[in-house]
Amino acid sequence: MLQSVVHVGALTCDGFAKVDLWLLLSVLCRVFHRVEQFCVTILSKRIENKKVSFADSDDSDAEGGLGNVSRLIIRPPGHSGKAKKGHLCFDAAFETGNLGRVDLVSEYEYDLFIRPDTCSPRLRLWFNFTVDNVRLDQRVIFNIVNISKTRNLFREGMTPLVKSTSKPRWQRIPRRQVYYYRSPQHQNHHVLTFAFNFDREDDVYQFSLSYPYSYSRYLGHLDNLCTKCSSVKRETLASSIQKRKVELVTIGSNAEERQRRVVAVLSRVHPGESPSSFVCQGLMDFLVSAHPIAQVLRDYVVFKIVPMLNPDGVFLGNYRSTLMGVDLNRAWNRISEWIHPTLFATRTLLEGLDKNANAPLDCVIDLHAHTNGNGLFVYGNTYDDVYRYERHIVLPKLLAQHTEDYNPDNTMYNQDPHKAGTARRFLCSILSEHVNCYTIQVSMYGYYRKGSPELLPYTEESYYRVGRNLARVLMEYYKLTGLIPSGLPDQPSNKRGRQSRQRYRQPRDPRPRTARTPAPLHLASIHEYFKEDIPELPTGPRYRSMSGTRMNLGAGTASAIGTTSVKNPSYRYRSPGAGPLDAGKSNGLLIMQGHSEPRLAIIDFNQLTRGGLDRATGKNRAKIPRKSPDRLTKFRR
Ligand SMILES: [Zn+2]
Repeated sequence: MLQSVVHVGALTCDGFAKVDLWLLLSVLCRVFHRVEQFCVTILSKRIENKKVSFADSDDSDAEGGLGNVSRLIIRPPGHSGKAKKGHLCFDAAFETGNLGRVDLVSEYEYDLFIRPDTCSPRLRLWFNFTVDNVRLDQRVIFNIVNISKTRNLFREGMTPLVKSTSKPRWQRIPRRQVYYYRSPQHQNHHVLTFAFNFDREDDVYQFSLSYPYSYSRYLGHLDNLCTKCSSVKRETLASSIQKRKVELVTIGSNAEERQRRVVAVLSRVHPGESPSSFVCQGLMDFLVSAHPIAQVLRDYVVFKIVPMLNPDGVFLGNYRSTLMGVDLNRAWNRISEWIHPTLFATRTLLEGLDKNANAPLDCVIDLHAHTNGNGLFVYGNTYDDVYRYERHIVLPKLLAQHTEDYNPDNTMYNQDPHKAGTARRFLCSILSEHVNCYTIQVSMYGYYRKGSPELLPYTEESYYRVGRNLARVLMEYYKLTGLIPSGLPDQPSNKRGRQSRQRYRQPRDPRPRTARTPAPLHLASIHEYFKEDIPELPTGPRYRSMSGTRMNLGAGTASAIGTTSVKNPSYRYRSPGAGPLDAGKSNGLLIMQGHSEPRLAIIDFNQLTRGGLDRATGKNRAKIPRKSPDRLTKFRR
């Protein structure tokens, strides 16, 4: 009896356990279903709200991607019927496009609203939109009124970029047309105002915060990259939430079996930081090239590059977030496979690389672009172990030595708690001690060349150059650490380059002296050489050149034969109306006039103006336009 009771009890308990499990599962299913319904309701409400907010701007054919304007024509109040020229048409319904709303303020003035990041309404900085249906010489004022990051490079003089159908190269709008200020008309918010004049009626104008670099461009570039070099391998590392590809590019030759190191490069985790994609492309293009440094690097180092960690955000035209409104560079310490699939795959990859003893992971570089700092700089970590810290700062120091745009003032090593979710902070905590993790930042605007007060804005080309410089610095780093033996082709190639330039330049110095001996000389060039020999000068204060330009010649600079002044070397001829020359003292001129053949004139002139000749050649030599030696070495390409 007791046994049967126990048996029944056991059955009952077992039965209860099964029932519990089913109950739990069904409850979970219902909860998921409710959550799904809730999300759908929220999203649809958001879209409804957006539609309501757009109702005041007419002619919006359809919503663009998640709230971007799509072929939105702005008409003056009371106007109906067909849109006329000058009723601007705004569009941001394209890849990387971002413009959420347009309000007409007056005949010339428009308030523009950046569309916030998807599911992250607080983030608003990236904008990229087109304007067409313009009138010839139409002048407008655009106010971008809802920038969320108020401490940005617009305070330093950055201006938006513009291009048009007939001028397809991006240009910065001149500074004098751009203002960044707190506007009383906009609740004292920071407003970016720029004036613009549309110069062609049929053009489509595009305005952007920085040089756009889209998801399609990234895929297209990788297609090209794989055809350039046999040492490139491309594979899909993960898919984003919207099923876009996160590609992994491996660059490294398999020719020889030798000890290698692995450098991992991550890029474009923040969609609005498009310069990081240019830097990454510059690095990859250099690494697959036939340059001696690239060849050596491929032999000794394996590069694992993830060029676009947030393809959804890039496609959607977000500033920092993914589709779900997550800032991935604050989420490394709480990765979920479903919410952050790209980070999950990257972390798994890096952990795998770290365990590989044959080719140990050495360095992780996370490429970013900075919206508030100038130049190129590094964020690194601090360590209690002094030796680890010393090892950690070697690469930034080499970067400082070998790049002209490096900004040591912005470089920082820290352990900020609120940066615990960044790649450099998190990865250095899970990877081996010898792995160095850095964030490399390049300014969205420009840099100060060392020793120069003038800020040079970055261009697409100079961002590529940052990537190439990074490869060169890694070469220096591995030579310093002994992985790459010195004396490989790269080193002589550098020296050879310098020597060859010197050899090329050296014969150029005496050229002004020797150039007078060959026979076929033009009269004009003779004048140029001997224009300052004769101390006696005409006293007329001004000459008019043949082109009619006034020349203000001082007593010590004008030539008796009416040629150039020091300040105006291109004015070679004396004007017919110039004052009389002192013929008796300027023998050289008489001789020249007596000989129609220039070659004879030179020899005689040389003899007669002995003494003055040395002075003249000395001065002239200094004036011979030569390529500045700095120009070739300043930018390391
Ligand atoms: Zn960033």
